[in-house]
Amino acid sequence: MHLEVRNLRKSFDGKEVVKDISFTIKQGDLVCLLGPSGCGKTTVLNMISGLLDVTSGTIMIGGRDVTHVHPKERGIGVVFQNYALYPHMTVLENIMFPLLIQKRSKSEARDEAIKIAKMVEIDQHLHKKPAMLSGGQQQRVAIARGIVKKPGVLLLDEPLSNLDARLRLVTRENIRRIVKQFNITAIFVTHDQEEALSISDQIIVLNQGVIQQKGNPQDLYQNPNSLFVAKFMGNPPINLFEGRTDEAGKIKLDKISIDTPCKQQDVILGVRPETFRILDQASPQSVEFTVELVQLIGRDTILSGKLGGQMCKIVTETGKNNIRENSIIHLSIDTTQVMVFEKQTGARVL
Ligand code: ATP
Repeated sequence: MHLEVRNLRKSFDGKEVVKDISFTIKQGDLVCLLGPSGCGKTTVLNMISGLLDVTSGTIMIGGRDVTHVHPKERGIGVVFQNYALYPHMTVLENIMFPLLIQKRSKSEARDEAIKIAKMVEIDQHLHKKPAMLSGGQQQRVAIARGIVKKPGVLLLDEPLSNLDARLRLVTRENIRRIVKQFNITAIFVTHDQEEALSISDQIIVLNQGVIQQKGNPQDLYQNPNSLFVAKFMGNPPINLFEGRTDEAGKIKLDKISIDTPCKQQDVILGVRPETFRILDQASPQSVEFTVELVQLIGRDTILSGKLGGQMCKIVTETGKNNIRENSIIHLSIDTTQVMVFEKQTGARVL
């Protein structure tokens, strides 16, 4: 269902932690709420589910104002970080439970639960208690229980954080698959930018209780509106070079000159690690890079070192250039890809 949040605010003991947040999510979209610890992600989610009262603002689901509707009546499924499975019930009973609450017949609930259990590949364990399952299996039971009643909106609060790296990848793929298959509107809370980039249709970046930026994953990566978002998205992170522009607004990165709209101002240049090109030799427009570390991570290799005296990482295709540690190489930069931020405010100016 279509979800709309208007001017949402929440204060705890007079301290405002969610500050006038508005967004809409269209039916069937998977949206990530992304941000550092304490920025208000869980508080927003808990207000949508009804676990927390709003201080002010409106929550609409499918065109219905549910701001003051009881959590059970909102048509929402929730998957928590700690699963919150019922320990005394079997896997099957756990998954059937939301349907029995809805007063569906036992046989219907059973058939439906088995169907969903198959989809999340937990049907081999239907008669076990949660304590007998691995973390990844418990997580899949929690997801099955969250989606079994085909909720209009599914809320997932850091649902992958207790899984190991491999299971995290598999499960996030499965979540996206299931959400798309049932055309469920989903909000996924995470502080992991890579998870957000890989799973979402849209990402909402929160910072200290306000929306810093929202957009699709590619847009947020390529067009961050602030230093905060630029630094938050991408691994290895964006390279930052501090400097001061001259009276014409120009700033130099080694031999390369970059035009900015800021005259005589302290700025920070941002260059993504993959935007450098390695040259065979120095050129009038190249920069010198001292390679300190070479790390192979599969298809890519990360070179860490210094550029103009500042720390820098570049990503290059493995095997393409035979680069050694402690060597000096020459790089070109596509200056149209260089981002410029005001040092004082962090606002993007170019
Ligand atoms: P994390 O990723 O660490 O879970 P988060 O982005 O989900 O963080 P919230 O849990 O929403 O952040 O918390 C936002 C702010 O509100 C924090 O400063 C937190 O300390 C505060 N807060 C949350 N719940 C309460 C509460 N019940 N009483 C008082 N303060 C609270």
